Amino acid sequence: MSVSEKMVQEVVQEVMAKMQIANAATEKHHGVFADMNDAIAAAKKAQQVVRNLSMDQREKIISIIRKKTHENAEIMARMGVNETGMGNVGDKILKHHLVADKVPGTEDIRTEAYSGDRGLTLVEMGPFGVIGAITPCTNPSETVLCNAMGMIAGGNTVVFNPHPQAIRTSIYAINMINEASLEAGGPDNVACTVENPTLDTSGIMMHHKDIPLIAATGGPGVVTAVLSSGKRGIGAGAGNPPALVDETADIRKAAQDIVNGCTFDNNLPCIAEKEIVAVDTVADELMHYMIAEQGCYLASKEEQERLIHTVITPKGLNRACVGRSAKVLLEMIGVTVEDNIRCIVFEGEKEHPLITTELMMPILGVVRAKDFEDAVEKAVWLEHGNRHSAHIHSKNVDHITTYAKAIDTAILVKNGPSYSALGFGGESICTFTIASRTGEGLTSAASFTKKRRCVMSDSLCIR
Ligand code: NAD
Repeated sequence: MSVSEKMVQEVVQEVMAKMQIANAATEKHHGVFADMNDAIAAAKKAQQVVRNLSMDQREKIISIIRKKTHENAEIMARMGVNETGMGNVGDKILKHHLVADKVPGTEDIRTEAYSGDRGLTLVEMGPFGVIGAITPCTNPSETVLCNAMGMIAGGNTVVFNPHPQAIRTSIYAINMINEASLEAGGPDNVACTVENPTLDTSGIMMHHKDIPLIAATGGPGVVTAVLSSGKRGIGAGAGNPPALVDETADIRKAAQDIVNGCTFDNNLPCIAEKEIVAVDTVADELMHYMIAEQGCYLASKEEQERLIHTVITPKGLNRACVGRSAKVLLEMIGVTVEDNIRCIVFEGEKEHPLITTELMMPILGVVRAKDFEDAVEKAVWLEHGNRHSAHIHSKNVDHITTYAKAIDTAILVKNGPSYSALGFGGESICTFTIASRTGEGLTSAASFTKKRRCVMSDSLCIR
C-alpha cells in the first residue's frame, strides 16, 4: 500500500469511529436503558436464563464474543481513542486481540471432588446472579469485554456503570456482547448499562438488593466506595509500578523492555512501568541506552518543572494529559521533537512529583539507589502499598526473591516488559481487572463465582 493510500485508509477509519460514536448516542442498542433500576431488572431476567444454560451454551456465547472482538478490534480501538483522547489505536487493537484470545471462558470453572467411605462431595462454582461492574476510561471496551466474558462463563449477567467519558465505546462493546448472546441462542441483556452513567446511577447499583457482588476497576476513590457499600466487592485499584534494575541485569535489554512496557498504549495500563529504580553502578548505562536506542527524550530540570505544572493540577492529574504520547506532552510545554520520541526520561529523587504520582503518561523518572537493598526500599516506598504491580531486571535469583517478598504485589514481571503479565509475550491469561486491593489478583471467570458444597452422604463412592 502506498503512503497516500494508507493515509486515506486511516482517515476513513477515523471518520467511521466518529460516526460510530455519534450513532451510539442515537441508535437503539441492546442492553442500554435510561434508568439503572430497569437495567438491573433486565439483567436479572436474563440471568434466570443464563444460569440454566449448559456450559456448552455459555461457551458458545463467549466464542462469538471472541470472534466479534477480533472483527471489531480496530473500530473499538479508534472509538476509545476518539472518545477519551487517551492511548493509541495500534496498541488498543492489540489489547482487543489479547482479550479475544486470552481471557478465559468456562474452562476456568472447575469442580473439586472428595470421595471416600462417607460418600461423595462436590465443591462447585455457582453464579452470584447479577454482578455490578464499574469500569475505567483507560481500557473502556477491553474491561467491559473481559468482565462480561468471565461473568457470563460463571453463569452471571452484568450491569455496567462505565466511566462517563467512555460511555459510547462501552455501549458499543455491551451491544456486541448481547448480539453474541442472541446469535448463540442465549437471551438479550446479558450485559446492561445506562445511557448516562453518573455517581448516582452507580450508587443505585451499589445499594440495589439484586446486586450481590460489585467489581470495581479504577482508581482509589471507586474501590473505597465499593468496599464501603456493604456488598461483597472485587477491588481492582490504582498502581504505581516501579521497575527495579540491578547490577546483574542485561542493561541494554532492560532499557528496551522498560520503554516498550512504559509506552504501550501511552502508559495507560495500570500495570505499566511508571518509574525506574536503578542501582548506582548501572544507572548511567541504562539512561544511555534509553536515550540512544529507545527513543527517549532527556528532560532538563526546567522542562521537568514545566511538565509538573502542566500534567498535575491542584485537583489531581490533568485529564488532558493522561494517555497522551510523549511528543504531544512535550508540545504542551513548548518542546518540539521528532516522531520517533516515545518517552520522556530524567533522573530525580523518589519524592519528585513526576515519579511518586501515578501519571499514566510516557514519563519515566529514574531514581538512583546506592545498592540493591536501597533500591528495594525505594521501590517499595514508590509502590505506595497498592500491592498492584512491580517489575525487576536482574539475573540474581536471590535478588528477585527478596524483591518479590518485599513488594508483595499481585503482578511481578521479571526481565520483560510489563505487558507480558497480560499474556502478551508471557504465559497465561489476560484480564484488564487486576484485583490488587481485595486479593483475587488477575480476575477470571472463577473470581465471579461462589463456592457451593454438594454432599451425597454414604453413597456414590465406588472405589
Ligand atoms: P477513575 O477512578 O477515575 O474511574 C473509574 C470508574 O470509577 C469510572 O467508571 C468512574 O466513573 C467511577 N468512579 C470514580 N469515583 C467513583 C466513586 N467515588 N463512586 C463510584 N464510582 C466512581 O479511574 P480512570 O481514570 O477511569 O482509570 C484509571 C485508574 O484506574 C488508575 O488509577 C488505574 O491504575 C486504575 N486501573 C486499575 C486497573 C486494575 O485492574 N487494577 C485497571 C485499569 C485501571
